[in-house]
Amino acid sequence: MQQAKRVLVTGGAGFLGSFLCERLLREGHEVACVDNFFTGSRRNVAHLLDNRSFEIIRHDVTFPLYVEVDEIYNLACPASPVHYQFDPVQTTKTSVHGAINMLGLAKRVRAKILQASTSEVYGDPEIHPQTEDYWGRVNPIGPRSCYDEGKRCAETLFFDYWRQHKLRIKVARIFNTYGPRMRPDDGRVISNFIVQALQNQPITVYGTGEQSRSFCYVDDLIDGLVRMMQTADDVTGPINLGNPVEFTMLELAELVIELTGSRSKIRFLPLPVDDPKQRQPDIGRALRELNWRPRIALRNGLAKTIAYFEDLVSSGHVPAAAE
Ligand code: NAD
Ligand code: UDP
Repeated sequence: MQQAKRVLVTGGAGFLGSFLCERLLREGHEVACVDNFFTGSRRNVAHLLDNRSFEIIRHDVTFPLYVEVDEIYNLACPASPVHYQFDPVQTTKTSVHGAINMLGLAKRVRAKILQASTSEVYGDPEIHPQTEDYWGRVNPIGPRSCYDEGKRCAETLFFDYWRQHKLRIKVARIFNTYGPRMRPDDGRVISNFIVQALQNQPITVYGTGEQSRSFCYVDDLIDGLVRMMQTADDVTGPINLGNPVEFTMLELAELVIELTGSRSKIRFLPLPVDDPKQRQPDIGRALRELNWRPRIALRNGLAKTIAYFEDLVSSGHVPAAAE
């Protein structure tokens, strides 16, 4: 067991953030969860509110924050294309101003800081699988750019604070991650397909469905983030965190139909602009530097996620999936 620390999790009421808060509390740390509840909710952390080591602070990271902490996990930022494109200016501000504010805080209190970066920094990649030294192929002016370029600029800021101010930084590049507590209406492929299948509605496959992604179950991902925070000060990353087993969207649709026993049929819809054709992490660096690799196969992670959405659907709280 490591020494108890005061840890700040921005975006702590979101999908990944809520699991991270839970894990850190389980390890005996004090956790301050900062969130503006844009895509996150109190419900995600309701079960933690009685814990005296847990505190929730409503705050937008585009404004400065002053708290005394030892470590910062910077997760605040909508992750689903539907939500990050809803207010693209705010998305860029969240990534860029949010990073400046959290790095400024880390500098002031000498905290270690980890950035939740993304495979989107690689854009629509020309090399496959993606290694950390690949610089990416990102459209700077498209509808996904607010997220992709915001996250790229945040990485730049992290490395400049490291070079210029000797800050202890960690940059994790997260690939598609899924699990319980994803929002049923957030438009990401796994939540969409499961909600559609459970309601026997058409499964909305964009384009031909031949584009690929590699899906990591949330517990594996959280373990990677925590391991990365614990590395020696000279380990800055970037480090890819994701499950390298790749699936096409058609394969995913078929698997979800099978696991839910659904009567849904597939409906093909237009491919969104700049939708990456393929994505698979090279996790060699994570294996070497964190001794980390994902353990949970898609089929098993999907079963847990389907159970979560079944409860939501049967309690009547699920709107139709976003298309
Ligand atoms: P999410 O939308 O569930 O969580 C994001 C959280 O940040 C929400 O609780 C939201 O309310 C909060 N937030 C947004 N803007 C904020 C602001 N200005 N101030 C304070 N809080 C704000 O998404 P997630 O899947 O949990 O993603 C968490 C982080 O991980 C994000 O930074 C995302 O870019 C990154 N990431 C996630 C994935 C994935 O597949 N889930 C992949 C790559 C990167
Ligand atoms: N997708 C799909 N149907 C949906 C939602 C998404 O076919 O209902 C596709 C989308 O076009 C993309 C892939 O699934 O190729 C993953 O989309 P998601 O929004 O989950 O993540 P990202 O594109 O950011 O990897």
